[in-house]
Amino acid sequence: MKSRTKKIVLVIGIMAALYIFYVAIPRPIPPEILQVPNETLITKSEEVTVFDEQVSKISNELHETLKKVDFHGHIFGLGLAAPQIGYNQRIIALKTSYGNYQTMVNPKIIEMKWHLPWTEKCLSLNGRHFLKRYFWTKVQYQNIEGNDREEVIIGPRAAILQQEIDHLNGILISDY
Ligand SMILES: [Zn+2]
Repeated sequence: MKSRTKKIVLVIGIMAALYIFYVAIPRPIPPEILQVPNETLITKSEEVTVFDEQVSKISNELHETLKKVDFHGHIFGLGLAAPQIGYNQRIIALKTSYGNYQTMVNPKIIEMKWHLPWTEKCLSLNGRHFLKRYFWTKVQYQNIEGNDREEVIIGPRAAILQQEIDHLNGILISDY
């Protein structure tokens, strides 16, 4: 083989290997993420009123679990809700950047715009589901210390936010 051909074959080989590793192989779902059918996943979660160690414990567990499914440059594990790891408490975590997550306690969408067709996956059930999500949202929540926060979230992160808040109400993407 000519050296130029060898190089091309090598580059294609590396690209194929990267594709298989990063895209084609599904990431294993950690066992702590509950799967349907499970009673906790369809139960409405309780409002958090006491901001104690239990809240930061759940928050840390959400982050640790997300870390297991998150990896660089890949859209997977963007968010997780407490019921998915066995707590019916209104606590969710969203990915902010690679390896960084933000916790929202008692999140509530107070303004939304642009209800658009969308497709989504969830770590608690198989398959991709078609539904509609708001592209623009304004969310009110508390941090783990109990301080009030307000934030505008748009695009795919807004969709994930809506999926996680749905989890707190016992609603799954397969219910749409
Ligand atoms: Zn989900």
